[in-house]
Amino acid sequence: MGTFHHDRHELHGITVVVDTSGPEIFVGRCDDMDDRQILGVFEGETGAMLTPYDNAPHKGVLNRSPDDLNKRVARYYDMGMQLHFHTVGDGAVRAALDALEYARERGSEEHRNLRHTFSHLGLVDPTDMPRFAELNAAASFTLAWGDTTEWTINLELPALGRERVARLYPIRSLLAAGAVVLGGSDWIYGDLDPLVSIETGITRDDAYGPISTSDFEVFDDETDELATLIDAYTINGAWQLHAEERSGSIEVGKRADMVIYDRNLFEIPTGEISEATVDLTLFDGRVVYRRPDKR
Ligand SMILES: [Zn+2]
Repeated sequence: MGTFHHDRHELHGITVVVDTSGPEIFVGRCDDMDDRQILGVFEGETGAMLTPYDNAPHKGVLNRSPDDLNKRVARYYDMGMQLHFHTVGDGAVRAALDALEYARERGSEEHRNLRHTFSHLGLVDPTDMPRFAELNAAASFTLAWGDTTEWTINLELPALGRERVARLYPIRSLLAAGAVVLGGSDWIYGDLDPLVSIETGITRDDAYGPISTSDFEVFDDETDELATLIDAYTINGAWQLHAEERSGSIEVGKRADMVIYDRNLFEIPTGEISEATVDLTLFDGRVVYRRPDKR
């Protein structure tokens, strides 16, 4: 993408920001910071939880009361918006799922097919997992964070305890519950390279090599397969945008949106996935990147 260029517009009485920096790319978002804050983080014991933190006598902070959140979400739902929730703790996830359910039960039938997104998803209670499919909501993960680091050991483990740390970023459990899983970049923090997230999603280890904490196996049940994670970055993302009929996979009649790497990801050791580099990028059939030494 080129330089960020934001235009502000009024829509139904709220300010939205449209990003016109790239070809055919635009992003609308609510410009009210208050309406975007329902999350906190584990390491500061602020993320809203269903059960108390191990190192603090409380369950974090839900920045909006459930009643207030329900009303706000219903308001945006009724405008026909696809909603994006950024939720970290299992308490925040449940409050947001409840709000989306509230909005869908009362909202117009014409908005029923809109596809919503929950991102970050540090912890999700197993009983909430089937609700993603029921509410037409995708689960967006940034699996570059799905490894065991000093951060996990020194900050998340004391706050959450081993049982909860072992359930962090529960991508496989959500897939098993029928959720559409997306590969995301959360916000502008850390590594945005999809291959780093894909490799980490499979190994649940540091993509740049073993570190001192790598043998602390906290992510016992959540290893994922390459094809599943490629889908998360391609066809599933197209689904979320209602664009799966024209993009997201290589098929006759679809747009040629694709990246060609210098090696076949299915034929190399998993630990090398993040080392693959791009030979060619096509956007709607046009070459927008070609490696300088390739002809
Ligand atoms: Zn996040």
